[in-house]
Amino acid sequence: MTIIDDVKALKEVFWINPKYGKSEIELEKLSLSIDDVNEAESRLKRFAPYIAKVFPETAESAESAESAGIIESPLIEIPKMKKFLIEEMQSSEMASSELTFNEIGNLLLKCDSHLPIAGSIKARGGINTILKHAEELAIANGMISPDEDYSKFANNEFQQFFSNYNIAVGSTGNLGLSIGIISAKLGFGVTVHMSSDAKQWKKDLLRSKGVTVVEYESDYSKAVEEGRKLSNLDLKSFFIDDENSVDLFLGYAVANKRLKAQLKDLNILVDENNPLFLYLPCGVGGAPGGIAFGAKLLWGDNVHCFFAEPTHSPCMLVGMATGLHDKICVQDLGIDNVTDADGLAVGRPSGFIGKTLEYLISGIYTIEDQTLYDLLRKMADLENIWLEPSALAGVPGITRLLSTDSGKNYIELHHLETKMKNATHIAWATGGSLVPKDIMNSYYLKGKK
Ligand SMILES: *Cc1c(COP(=O)(O)O)cnc(C)c1O
Repeated sequence: MTIIDDVKALKEVFWINPKYGKSEIELEKLSLSIDDVNEAESRLKRFAPYIAKVFPETAESAESAESAGIIESPLIEIPKMKKFLIEEMQSSEMASSELTFNEIGNLLLKCDSHLPIAGSIKARGGINTILKHAEELAIANGMISPDEDYSKFANNEFQQFFSNYNIAVGSTGNLGLSIGIISAKLGFGVTVHMSSDAKQWKKDLLRSKGVTVVEYESDYSKAVEEGRKLSNLDLKSFFIDDENSVDLFLGYAVANKRLKAQLKDLNILVDENNPLFLYLPCGVGGAPGGIAFGAKLLWGDNVHCFFAEPTHSPCMLVGMATGLHDKICVQDLGIDNVTDADGLAVGRPSGFIGKTLEYLISGIYTIEDQTLYDLLRKMADLENIWLEPSALAGVPGITRLLSTDSGKNYIELHHLETKMKNATHIAWATGGSLVPKDIMNSYYLKGKK
């Protein structure tokens, strides 16, 4: 049996990337570097006064005046969830029973589910991309220079100016929210092309902000393709290409510099004896890819990045394991790409991400929708944290790594056995805070008691 047979049979798998290499060597080969991430970070800082002004919630939630208008999320410990996961692992057949609570390190949750403005990880990439476009237009038209106070972008003349331009994007939901909300705020005309799995409340929310929503009967790839086609007909339209966008990628990558400071505040070390594990929910690949790239730049071989995908939409796994990247989709294997994890309902991976991270990600595992609901309910009951189904995909990464044969092999291969007690595991929670209460409640009820 190959891994692809198991994937076709919709089994939950834990795949270790055989091409995984030394970070220093692999990063050298890429055309993007830390300078590009720094540039994105500086842009977000230049725009902070604008963001603080037009989204006052970012100023209120800021820890200091300096961080007002910086779009960031908390990093928190989830000890009750950790305890539950370990007990569950130990009661299952796959148990590696010798491991106890203190022997597997720390489990933290990165709460991008609660990022201001867009309520999902898409706030990072989407907002960077639109701000860059707005900045370029404004500079080219002599309206601003980079050393000025960017709160000027809130002025009427800017709104008037941007209303001559259009933004378009294809989305399963959350990217549409992120791009739609920031673009409409700046004054752009915005069209979001939504796939069939996008939730009604996301469409309603966007329409309430003046965004044009076009709905498709088909899945995400089709919505992107149509959006791209229509946008290309309009010279004043800018299409955000989720499958290939470098600016989205770099916006996501900025997360790690902030994460580094948060780890330091918690007195958590990351070095050769204190490994860091990231578990990142993956759709088309941009968000987990950008974060993995940024993490590798900062922590090199001391960080291990795993992607998590639904068993019905394992596009990145299929692309990477076959080496075909965007030349293959899950439907080619007879897999339906139907999942309730709407941010992850992507059948064809980004070729740009697959190729960029081919030698840098440690592995990919898959997860059933029902497990996402069960974890959603547990997270609410135990930690009082409310996430959308997609956002739970990273949570069981820690026990999958410790209990599956391939996970255990990975630990051995990289001589991590003695270091696991010092490890830090971060499950990246990617969305949830904007989900309406009644819908969240229906998710909750689908989880096991
Ligand atoms: C988009 C999204 C992801 C994954 O990001 P990709 O760039 O599509 O890989 C994960 N979780 C949620 C909630 C998302 O909206």
